[in-house]
Amino acid sequence: MTAYSVFRMLACLARDRVPGQLVIQITNQCNATCPQCGMRKTADIRRTRLKTDDLRQILDAAGEKGVQAVSFTGGEPLLFLEQVTALISHAGRAGIPYIRTGTNGFLFCGSRQPGFKDRIRSMADKLAATPLRNFWISLDSAVPKVHEQMRGLPDVVRGIETAIPIFHAAGIYPSVNLGINRLVGGPLTRDLHRSSFPSDTAYLEAFYKVFHSAFDRFFRQVCNMGFTLANTCYPMSIGTADLDSGLHAVYAATAGEAVVRFSREEKIFLYQALAANVTRHRPYLRIFTPLCSLHALIAQHQTPGTASGRAVETAGCRGGIDYFFIGSDDGHTYPCGYRGREDLGSFPALNIRGTGHQPVCRQCDWECFRDPSELFSPLLDTLHRPQRVLSRIFHDPHVFSLWQKDLRYYAACGYFNGRKPPASSRLARFTPK
Ligand code: SF4
Ligand code: SF4
Repeated sequence: MTAYSVFRMLACLARDRVPGQLVIQITNQCNATCPQCGMRKTADIRRTRLKTDDLRQILDAAGEKGVQAVSFTGGEPLLFLEQVTALISHAGRAGIPYIRTGTNGFLFCGSRQPGFKDRIRSMADKLAATPLRNFWISLDSAVPKVHEQMRGLPDVVRGIETAIPIFHAAGIYPSVNLGINRLVGGPLTRDLHRSSFPSDTAYLEAFYKVFHSAFDRFFRQVCNMGFTLANTCYPMSIGTADLDSGLHAVYAATAGEAVVRFSREEKIFLYQALAANVTRHRPYLRIFTPLCSLHALIAQHQTPGTASGRAVETAGCRGGIDYFFIGSDDGHTYPCGYRGREDLGSFPALNIRGTGHQPVCRQCDWECFRDPSELFSPLLDTLHRPQRVLSRIFHDPHVFSLWQKDLRYYAACGYFNGRKPPASSRLARFTPK
C-alpha cells in the first residue's frame, strides 16, 4: 500500500465509509458450460455487451468519485481481450489503484499445439503492460477432469499449468478462483447424499469430513500447479429456499442447480471445513478468504431469520453503499449483482455520497461484497460506534482475534498484490502451532 492510498482510506473511514468498489460486467457472453452459472453458453438468455465509450465514462466517474477498486467481470472477459486491456489502462489513468479481471481459462486450451507458449506470452505481456493488479483463473474442482467437464474446456488444466510460469515471468501472479460447488472433491463430494445416512447428524459429520478433505486436496493441487494466490467464491443459488425471495439476480453468476445449492445447515459445515483449510494452507499460499468473514457467515447461518437482514453481531454488507454492480444488460448501477430490482440508474449520475445509510443487508454470501464488508466493519465501528464494538466483543470475543489475525496475514501477503511474488518467510509465520 502506498502512503497516498493509506491516506485516502483513512479519509474514507473518517466519513464512516470504506473505499469504494465497482464490479463491472462488461458482457454476459460466455463460451463455457459451467452448471453452476446462468450465463453458460447453453443458457437461453439475451446476450449483451457494454460499449467501450460508455465504460470509459463510468471509469472516469468512478475515479472522480474516489472508487478505489474495479473488477471487470463477465461472462468471459477475455473473449474481448483488446477491450479489456484498454479498459484496465483507462481505469489506471482514472486513478483507480486496485484493478482486477480474470478468465475461465479458455485461452489455455490447446497447450500441446505449436505456438501455444508464444501465444500465452503475448497475452501475458499485453496484460502486464497495464496497471492490472489481480488476474484470476477459475478452477472448480480438485479433480482436473471434473473441472474440464464442468467448464467444457478439454485439457485446460494442463494449459493453465503451462501458462503460470509464463505469467510469472511477465510479472503477473495469477490467483486461482474456486467457485465452491458439490463437485469440488470430484466423486467424493458428488456422491454424498443425505439419503445414505441414518440421521442429519451423521450426514453432516460426513459432509464436514468429505468437504474438509476436498478443500485440502484443492489447495494442494493448485500449489502443485504453480499458483501462489487463491480465492474462494461462496456458493450462490439465488431463488432457492435458503435465501430471501426478495433477491433477483441481475448478475447471473448463480443457478438453482443442485451442484451449487446447499442448505443452511450444510453451509455451516461447509464454511467450517473451508476455514480449517484456509488456516492450514495459508503458510504457503496467499489465500484471500478472511477467517473473520467465514466466522460471521457461520454465525449468521446458525441464527435462523438472519437471511432477511435482522440485526446480528456480524457486519452488514456494504452493497449499495460503497460497493456497486454495473450490469451488461443495461449498463445501469445496482446495489450488487443480486438486488436487481433496485435500479440506481447511470453510475456517472449517481451521488454515491448520498447512499450513506447503515449496512443491514445479509441476504446472500457474495464474497466480493461480504468479505471486504466484514473486514472493514471493526475499523468503522471503533471510530464511529464504539458501543457496537463492545457489544460484539461481549457476544463473540473470538471474532476480534480472527480479525486481527486476518489483518496480520494480509500484511504478510503484501495485500495480495498479484504483481509481486509471495514473501515465503513471512507467510511461514502463520504455520498453525
Ligand atoms: S462461471 Fe464464468 S465461465 Fe462459467 S459459464 Fe459462468 S460466466 Fe462462463
Ligand atoms: S448481502 Fe450484499 S451482495 Fe448479498 S444481496 Fe445483500 S447487498 Fe447484495
